Amino acid sequence: MRTAKQRKEALDLVRAGMSYAEAGRRTGIAGNTIRFWSVQAGLPPSRKPITFEPGQIIGNWQVIGEAKRNGPQKKRWVCKCLLCQENKLVLGESLKYGWSTKCANCSRRETGVKAREKWKRYCRSPEWHEKRKAVHEKQRQNGIAFWAKLKAERAAKAAAEAGEARTV
Ligand SMILES: [Zn+2]
Repeated sequence: MRTAKQRKEALDLVRAGMSYAEAGRRTGIAGNTIRFWSVQAGLPPSRKPITFEPGQIIGNWQVIGEAKRNGPQKKRWVCKCLLCQENKLVLGESLKYGWSTKCANCSRRETGVKAREKWKRYCRSPEWHEKRKAVHEKQRQNGIAFWAKLKAERAAKAAAEAGEARTV
């Protein structure tokens, strides 16, 4: 059980401008509990809401404005991807923490280009050349073995036929 004294102590820390997590670490109470208490006590949220100015550029995104919310969703922003000039909705936290820097199409395109460059580098490397050489050599040996086997079979068949002809 949390005592009223603990609760007062934690709320005093939040009032002094400390974040819930930090106050939790100080008092040994879960930060979420302190958040619950401070909401109950009617304190303003410790975290500032994430806002952006229209026209602000973050990565390859240009913020146009706040998106309409239908329901208790996370806040999204209408942003223009500067690479393909298309408008998309981006989560505020993705913009703030740099999780998103361009639209999904452009990011996929970039991944493809990177993969192709990596492949080009690899297929010109001696490592790749050695591997191919080993594969070709194995194929050559397989071919030699195949023809040798076929030749031996034909020879055996011809010998058997000759033997039959002699006995007849
Ligand atoms: Zn784009």
